[in-house]
Amino acid sequence: MSNREPYNDVMSAVQSFIIDVACFLTLHEWNGWEYLSQDSCTQVRTCKNCKRKSNSIEHSWNSWKYESDCSCNQTRICNRCSQTESGLPDHVWDMWEYASLDSCFLVRTCHRCGDHAIGKVSHSWGVWEYESPTSCAQVRFCRRCNAREAGETIHKWSQWQSNEENNKQKRICSHCCEAEYKDM
Ligand SMILES: [Zn+2]
Ligand SMILES: [Zn+2]
Ligand SMILES: [Zn+2]
Ligand SMILES: [Zn+2]
Ligand SMILES: [Zn+2]
Repeated sequence: MSNREPYNDVMSAVQSFIIDVACFLTLHEWNGWEYLSQDSCTQVRTCKNCKRKSNSIEHSWNSWKYESDCSCNQTRICNRCSQTESGLPDHVWDMWEYASLDSCFLVRTCHRCGDHAIGKVSHSWGVWEYESPTSCAQVRFCRRCNAREAGETIHKWSQWQSNEENNKQKRICSHCCEAEYKDM
């Protein structure tokens, strides 16, 4: 009997050492989460072995609501702790329309708060045409705002023609008169 007690002491020392090592390696054995108080969203849990505590905040958010009738800002409130949070504005946009008669900028208006948003540019391009009688560069113009866009160069090449003197073939653009050569 008397020589069993030291054995038990050693075993319990070993056990608590193992627990200490486990908790040191953050392998805690947690009890369940409990709220700190009735109107708080902070939850606490305690390790069964080392009694360390850990916290977490878990709100019970209501749905987003507009701040007021003429604002699109949204807020929500927590059921438990009454904390509020602001979200992104949620506008109710009308259709995109041109900013003015001779502008190609599209704008839209929120019919709740009157906010404007400027969107992309939407041109009404005419057909591609030659830049000038002596250039084969293509350009086109917007029928609304007269914006100009440069395109690729498109030559009107003739057939390849042989030139026996220098053993090369030649073709000529009938629009800009540029010449191009290649070996026969
Ligand atoms: Zn622990
Ligand atoms: Zn809360
Ligand atoms: Zn709005
Ligand atoms: Zn335009
Ligand atoms: Zn040309």
